Amino acid sequence: MVHLPSSKLPNVGTTIFTQMTQLANQHQAINLSQGFPDFLPDSGLLSSVDHFIKKGFNQYAPLGGMIPLKEAIATKIEKSHQTDYHPDSEITVTAGGTQAIFTAIATFIQKEDEVIIFEPAYDCYEPTVELFGGIVKRFEMKAPDYSIDWNVVKGLITEKTKMIILNNPNNPSGKVFKENDIQELIKIVKDTSILILSDEVYENITFDGREHLSICRYPELKERSLLIASFGKLFHVTGWKVGYCAAPKALTDEFRKVHQFNVFCVNTPVQLALAEYMKNEEHYIHLSQFFQEKRDFLRKGLSNTSFGILDCEGTYFQALTYDKISDKNDFEFATELTIRHKVASVPFSAFYKNRLNENVIRLCFAKKQETLEQALEFLAKV
Ligand code: PMP
Repeated sequence: MVHLPSSKLPNVGTTIFTQMTQLANQHQAINLSQGFPDFLPDSGLLSSVDHFIKKGFNQYAPLGGMIPLKEAIATKIEKSHQTDYHPDSEITVTAGGTQAIFTAIATFIQKEDEVIIFEPAYDCYEPTVELFGGIVKRFEMKAPDYSIDWNVVKGLITEKTKMIILNNPNNPSGKVFKENDIQELIKIVKDTSILILSDEVYENITFDGREHLSICRYPELKERSLLIASFGKLFHVTGWKVGYCAAPKALTDEFRKVHQFNVFCVNTPVQLALAEYMKNEEHYIHLSQFFQEKRDFLRKGLSNTSFGILDCEGTYFQALTYDKISDKNDFEFATELTIRHKVASVPFSAFYKNRLNENVIRLCFAKKQETLEQALEFLAKV
């Protein structure tokens, strides 16, 4: 009998997204838990992949990505944020945002390096830091406004701080950084060698005219940042797992050393189709408006229910409180909501290491109109 080596991630189980999706399937509930669209992507994009497959683009892509896609990414960033990344030496196409995040952490985090994260946090940051021996320091953003006290963040910094991980717009709170947040961050990292990993996968989904203040707009931050984005969110193709990392050459050189042994390269025909599709900026500049209509529809419907509706400045997630309905903790409540009321959500406590429970759940509104209508009908009965 072989004795298995001890786990490198002893405290990690199945993700909450998988758990809630399984529960939704088991109880035939509407799945507003996991963050993926239930509608089709644009057929033009789909037929473009078909076109490139049939034209014979089915072998390995270059390590950094297909040239047309890297150029299209550089153009998009330039148009959106008026700053240049060199397509060849500063942009790397990755197998989704997750691999970009994993590779960035693997590249730079060594034993005992400290990494600051902001909770509620997307679930892959912390385990990845721990895999490489790093130590996570947390700032807990709290309901209802999830604001950041930058003085407290400053207090988390030591001489061992290697990286700060940001997620703007934030999943799950929908919080979007304001100019003041960025200016405070600039002050904090000034005269340090702290790197920034900026997870901006929801970059094109901000509401009510809010601008997405990408890290790359600020030279003092850009020079130390790995900017990560995902086509899954941009074009409703979360299953394609294609994203990218944009970073100054010196950081990209190191990133690619790890990337080449991590995946080496990413799906060739999909890269070419994405490049072609991105030539028309109409394909992404209206994304905020598209999701704002869904957000507003959901919020209007929810105003007739007993749920409390928190602000939603960006992403495709709406946070809800349920104090008038139940005094159960958020995990128990989300479970009951799935089983009894047939709507699956994600409890916010899952996004905090210490399972902070503020009686908040998250609904994903990247769904067809019928799905949202049906969910609202069920939620009105709660
Ligand atoms: N970061 C955040 C905040 C996310 O919500 C997600 C996906 N849900 C990712 C990264 C991962 O992106 P991808 O699916 O492209 O790996």
